[in-house]
Amino acid sequence: MARDHLLVIDQGTTSTRVIVYDLRLKPVGQGQHEIPLTYPRSGWVEHDPRTIVASVGAEVTTALINARVRAEQIAAIGITNQRETTIVWDRATGEPIAPALVWQDRRTADVCNRLRRKEGVVSRLTGLVIDPYFSATKIAWLLDHVDGARRKAEAGQLAAGTVDTLLIRHLTGGDHLTDVTNASRTLLMELATDQWSDELCELFDVPKSLLAEIRPSAGDFGATRGLDYLPDGIPITGVAGDQQASLMGQGCVSEGQAKCTYGTGAFLLAHTGARIIPSTHGLLTTRAATTRDEPPQYALEGSVFIAGAAVQWFRDGLKVIHDASEIGDLAMRGDPEGEVVFVPAFTGLGSPHWQPAARGTLYGLTRATTLADIARAAMEGVAFQVGDLIEAIEEDLSEPLAALNVDGGMSRSDAFLGFQADVLGRPVVRSPETESTALGAALLAGLGAGVWSDRATALALLASGGRTFETARGYLWRAKALERWRRAVETTRGHYR
Ligand code: ADP
Repeated sequence: MARDHLLVIDQGTTSTRVIVYDLRLKPVGQGQHEIPLTYPRSGWVEHDPRTIVASVGAEVTTALINARVRAEQIAAIGITNQRETTIVWDRATGEPIAPALVWQDRRTADVCNRLRRKEGVVSRLTGLVIDPYFSATKIAWLLDHVDGARRKAEAGQLAAGTVDTLLIRHLTGGDHLTDVTNASRTLLMELATDQWSDELCELFDVPKSLLAEIRPSAGDFGATRGLDYLPDGIPITGVAGDQQASLMGQGCVSEGQAKCTYGTGAFLLAHTGARIIPSTHGLLTTRAATTRDEPPQYALEGSVFIAGAAVQWFRDGLKVIHDASEIGDLAMRGDPEGEVVFVPAFTGLGSPHWQPAARGTLYGLTRATTLADIARAAMEGVAFQVGDLIEAIEEDLSEPLAALNVDGGMSRSDAFLGFQADVLGRPVVRSPETESTALGAALLAGLGAGVWSDRATALALLASGGRTFETARGYLWRAKALERWRRAVETTRGHYR
């Protein structure tokens, strides 16, 4: 039977998706499963790793059935995943010792504050900042708070990793591997060498022996073994963190190309080629996906923790909409000249503001304020945060980005992209490719497995075009609204300092 398909596992914060692609990179079937998050305390955000693993098995089966493709037709598997989310498991059995600490989890804020004086060396080595967002302090927290974990870790009985590593462990029956993009988000990898750093492991109190071997994003990540839903021997050949995968899936593979993905959070990445550009504006320098025979590739990244999650809050917290798609209509009923400002910092402020202790704040309420005004302000708050990121990236790059390609769940909202264009004062282009994260992983898997003759042939398979959203409100609105926004962010930062 011809091995003429690729299977991609896209393990995101809100769901696990599995997509089957043909070798022209057309999706032919998929399965999707929502993954519940739990919030045991203020600032804590957890997943059950067993649910994540089980969802992969279930959705691989569903995707193959929907695609009418047999498992024997799969040439290779690609994995892309929510980054930074941290799991510690028993090396022998693969059993997690505790819930997964999700990237949004802020429980290690105090530890990060205590380590603040090391900021210089950490950012020089990793391109990151010391923040609970990244994996290192999460691993240490698990070792220190799960009964006996530190002792077991020292005895070599535990393994730690991000979601890619957990899934590779599960799919291969034991391999302990990660890719450079995921490793670059742990605060433990040296950006310039792609190796775990002894100095950082010591600083964050993470035994290096727990960590997986780091490999290029397209290459060898073992093969399936011992699963009841896939035969043995299907190679895993592409692995990348979700944002780096979507940078690739958007066709951004060389310097100056950029994209923004609006999922649970919003992530703006600009490819910087083989150059490591340190940020002087609170952005992160990170690894871009790299194939085996390429020099290391890098990107500048800015992230907003809460984007679509603000929409989820209207749906699941406030319960004022039933479906995320209703938020656009609600927000459009808000007053376009209104002065309500919403800083949706539910889990702290990310780059360029970096204030982990911040929480959501609402300004400018009057007796005339409606729910629609608040929804509008929340959507605009996300758009303003992305605006702040773009300004920071352009200053670091010393040149304007050519265009902003956008994708992700929240970019389905026309109303929101209209707000984003207004806030930026320039057009926004919605990618024709709504699944660029999975597509990027498919590209990496195919490249790693050698199904195309070269990278250019593979990139030519990506769709082109897209819908452009123009600015509707003028310069004066923007200037005033931006001023209100900046004041609100400053007040919020000050309040939670
Ligand atoms: P992730 O990969 O982080 O799970 P997705 O790209 O699937 O995220 O996007 C899901 C997010 O997009 C959810 O937070 C949801 O609230 C939001 N979302 C989905 N559809 C819409 C819509 N039509 N309008 C606004 N937000 C939406």
